Amino acid sequence: MSSPLRSFIDVPVDSHFPIENLPFGVFQPKGGNARVGVAIGDLIVDLSVLEELGHFRSPEFQDQKVFSEDSLNRFLALGRPAWRKTREILQRLLSAETPTLRDDARLREKVFHAQKDVVMKLPARIGNYTDFYSSYHHAHNVGTMLRGPENALMPNWKWLPVAYHGRASSIVVSGADVRRPQGQIKPPDASAPIFSPTKSLDYELEMAFLIGPRNSLGEPVPIDRAVDHVFGLVLMNDWSARDIQAWEYQPLGPFLAKNFCTSISPWVVTLEALEPFREPLPQQDPEPLPYLRWENDFTLDIRLEAQLQTSSMKAPHVITRTNFQNLYWSIAQQLAHHTVNGCNLQAGDLLASGTISGATEESRGCMLELTWRGANPLKLPNGETRKWLEDGDTLAITGWAQGNGYRVGFGEVSGCILPVV
Ligand code: CA
Repeated sequence: MSSPLRSFIDVPVDSHFPIENLPFGVFQPKGGNARVGVAIGDLIVDLSVLEELGHFRSPEFQDQKVFSEDSLNRFLALGRPAWRKTREILQRLLSAETPTLRDDARLREKVFHAQKDVVMKLPARIGNYTDFYSSYHHAHNVGTMLRGPENALMPNWKWLPVAYHGRASSIVVSGADVRRPQGQIKPPDASAPIFSPTKSLDYELEMAFLIGPRNSLGEPVPIDRAVDHVFGLVLMNDWSARDIQAWEYQPLGPFLAKNFCTSISPWVVTLEALEPFREPLPQQDPEPLPYLRWENDFTLDIRLEAQLQTSSMKAPHVITRTNFQNLYWSIAQQLAHHTVNGCNLQAGDLLASGTISGATEESRGCMLELTWRGANPLKLPNGETRKWLEDGDTLAITGWAQGNGYRVGFGEVSGCILPVV
């Protein structure tokens, strides 16, 4: 996985944003409107300026201007030909061999912003949000807690990618604080519920993908065309209130335990940038039904970490180390299943993986599993312990694919817990 690409912009080998990556986001410079940019090193390329200068006029863009928008939605709707063309144009403009930007200081002044000087926004207007439950080990661990190891997995789990419809309005971008929710909680030995702030606030380490071109209502997307509709991936934290969840979730699934806040990272890493990190999807047993089978199906080698920093710690401490490959169901299978009944996905919809846990203890992607419902509290390096997240705690998730001498990274998604109002 060595790379022939070289930029005139210096990027350290451990940067998440080398020329091989070029993730898309929406940023707002001081005194300006939000617009679309691409990250390289610690800079942002302002695509609205390049668009005004006529760099994106080829047929793939269908005579549309898409980069002065305050969301990626119009660009998402254009589909893979426009996404590929944009990447190709940017890799050429940023290359060490191309003089256009390299040798024009005044143009560089207009086109580049320092990431530290701008505010990152949500990358898309997310109309719909779905959360899957696609990690075998997560489902097995949670099922074991609820029903014992013999009945850990529900009978449908290995036949279809289980999911629920979440709420899009409470999705926030990394850095936004997370207000501790309150609600109905029924203590195990009580006969009636109480009203209280959650006492078991949790994170869930997830990834999510953004939908590009829509499919029409009533027209399923066949699995071999599924990735045509997938633009790229972000990191996600599905904040969860376990005590509220335990009392409310039957029979219709998660509701107020999940929809108070969901955080995503601001930079969307494209499937093009992740192509070198594709791995064949492991054999599934039982073999899925034909609409979920694709001979070229793949997973991605993306390393993932969750870090916790309490208000009295000087540095974050890694509490989860896992990998995207711990997902049993693929992106293509999730999308094919989501549309098989004719459900229409739209540009900017967000489809999340579910908590990504692996077989080992350190790869468990939430406190529910790490502490086994609070039975084994986490011991932190400064002597503190945690069963659940407390006010003032900051939880950050990071992830990257490791190439030979470069990283295709996702940056991070973080949030700090605030007390109830
Ligand atoms: Ca979740």
